[in-house]
Amino acid sequence: MNRDFIAGSRRLKLQIEVHEGIRYTESDPAVLLEQLSESLPGLDEHRCCGNSEIGSTFFRNGDGDGSTEGARLASANLAHLLEHVVLDLQYRIAGATRCSAVTCGYWEPPSRYDLFVESSNALCAGTSARLGVALMNDHLAGHPAIPLYGLAIRVGRELYERHPWPRGDAELAASLEEPAGRVQEITRHLRERSVVEEVLMTVNFGGGEQYGLAATPFPWRVNR
Ligand SMILES: [Zn+2]
Repeated sequence: MNRDFIAGSRRLKLQIEVHEGIRYTESDPAVLLEQLSESLPGLDEHRCCGNSEIGSTFFRNGDGDGSTEGARLASANLAHLLEHVVLDLQYRIAGATRCSAVTCGYWEPPSRYDLFVESSNALCAGTSARLGVALMNDHLAGHPAIPLYGLAIRVGRELYERHPWPRGDAELAASLEEPAGRVQEITRHLRERSVVEEVLMTVNFGGGEQYGLAATPFPWRVNR
């Protein structure tokens, strides 16, 4: 485990599968890091174990050669990138500045990874994990909603700060000083990706759909 984990702190356990056939659009994982940094400025300045730059820790020749080993290295890079995306989102959503993480690969199946991410708050960790997976999947698929992720993160932060009270599109648009149509587009997108969910209100003064963060917890571990 990561020696930087603080004894007694809690950590999220996120198990992911990297589907076969998923490939970077470019052969160099640094290109994906650069693309992700457009939504998460500063991601490319993250440090890894041993204080090395994140860009220097990628497994090279991990894509495009068609070999089993090549596919394994490519998926390890993706899992490692997701770990950093989740850490970054915890900072953007809840201001979490001090947290560590570690990613462990399985021998069998080689497509499976466990990510352990230190966090003091289950809702923040869960939101960051869901949003991080959505962001990575959309980048890998070249989804047209990618430019909206800057706004998606602000919507996540707004709902996190107001939790457990839900917010409608009009209210979110007013708080974020963004056009209602743009906010509506991103809340629909985030609902489809299970980052936010519609909250049914007994009394709904504002009318329209009300959203809150998806709150189903992920597994937790306590660092020893
Ligand atoms: Zn790292």
